[in-house]
Amino acid sequence: LQKETVVIIGAGPAGLAISAVLTNLKIPFLLLEKSDTIGNTWKNQYDKLELHTIKNFSHLPFLPFPDDYPLYVTRDLFVQYLEDYSKKFDINPVFKSEVISCRKREDYWIVQTRKVMIQSKYVIICTGYNNSPNIVEWKGAKVFKGSIFHSREYKNGKNFQSKKVLIVGAGNSAGEIALDIFKNGGFPSLSIREYARIIPREIFGVPAQINAIIMDFLPIPIADQLSKFLLSIATEDLSPYGIQSPPYGSISQIKEKEKIPMIDTGTVEQIKNGNIKIYPEISSLEENSILFVDGRKEMFDILIMATGYFTALERFLENSRDYLDERGVPLIKGQNVGNGMYFLGFKNHITGFLRTIGIEAEMIGNDLRQHLKL
Ligand SMILES: Cc1cc2nc3c(=O)[nH]c(=O)nc-3n(C[C@H](O)[C@H](O)[C@H](O)COP(=O)(O)OP(=O)(O)OC[C@H]3O[C@@H](n4cnc5c(N)ncnc54)[C@H](O)[C@@H]3O)c2cc1C
Repeated sequence: LQKETVVIIGAGPAGLAISAVLTNLKIPFLLLEKSDTIGNTWKNQYDKLELHTIKNFSHLPFLPFPDDYPLYVTRDLFVQYLEDYSKKFDINPVFKSEVISCRKREDYWIVQTRKVMIQSKYVIICTGYNNSPNIVEWKGAKVFKGSIFHSREYKNGKNFQSKKVLIVGAGNSAGEIALDIFKNGGFPSLSIREYARIIPREIFGVPAQINAIIMDFLPIPIADQLSKFLLSIATEDLSPYGIQSPPYGSISQIKEKEKIPMIDTGTVEQIKNGNIKIYPEISSLEENSILFVDGRKEMFDILIMATGYFTALERFLENSRDYLDERGVPLIKGQNVGNGMYFLGFKNHITGFLRTIGIEAEMIGNDLRQHLKL
């Protein structure tokens, strides 16, 4: 049995942020990572991915992005930043160490990988809000001859030339993958179940994240009205193209439903040009075609599920129901749950996910410093 003071699970942005904070406070810790690399999730994202949040508000504690980075950091540069970050703070995860069980026993947490069993007073879970793909099982999926996969598997549009591709979802991955496939000579369509909120990345030159930070100070109904007004000048009604806006405001959507709008980086233009077609929800699949709830039937070669992710915390966390809501998201985030456990990186906050990771990492560091009476 290995003994530690603090165990951190996951070496993505959240795990690295808290590692740097603890290093700074001289609190010893052990960082466990299931893959063989840091920033595993980011390394496996699609080639064209860029942050939607701006570099000024997306860096981790103590290290801003380099001056020559673009305002919207690309995937490759973000991965480079994570590597530079781990070197600067001398963060050395133990790789190939997937935590398969985490359980409370008396005063300690027992954290188990396939190789070791660790006893630790504190455990910080940084395994990601977007941990496991949400897979949809449609009627007829078994007979469909085309390929079906989750957006997590999508890398680029190179192999999609002349292919008819249906992308299911109304989030950022859906919009960006559709655009990428179109730019690579494919024929993309989006299947949108109910509503889609699409907002420009910038309104009159002001990044959406800055608007969100300002609106975070306002009461939700006022912020909803203000954002409705701004969007009414900056965007057009997409209902003629088959996209209905949600009946609730965009700020309540993010704050109360934790649903991030699709941030437009060129998808809307191609929808208007007819290069990205819109379909409603799928009702079932046949050998070569897809059937929709409005009765349409269309032939497609490929079906991509851009249907999001779930935290999958219940897979390794004992009594997880005590800590999670019905979506599997921790009820208490960024603070001691009360038993020496912390969840970091589970707050889909309006002012930016990465920005919030930095804030919460510093809060957790301070809390641990007090607990450890340093
Ligand atoms: C497509 C996409 C675009 C995004 N764009 C932005 C953006 O523009 N701005 C923004 O602020 N946020 C953005 N986010 C949200 C958020 O910033 C990222 O999801 C970010 O990667 C979260 O960091 P994390 O460390 O919490 O999780 P992850 O990056 O997912 O890292 C989790 C780590 O834990 C490891 N792990 C998982 N399970 C175990 C286990 N059982 N044992 C050991 N290790 C484990 C994984 O291998 C991984 O390395 C985006 C998210 C996605 C999916």
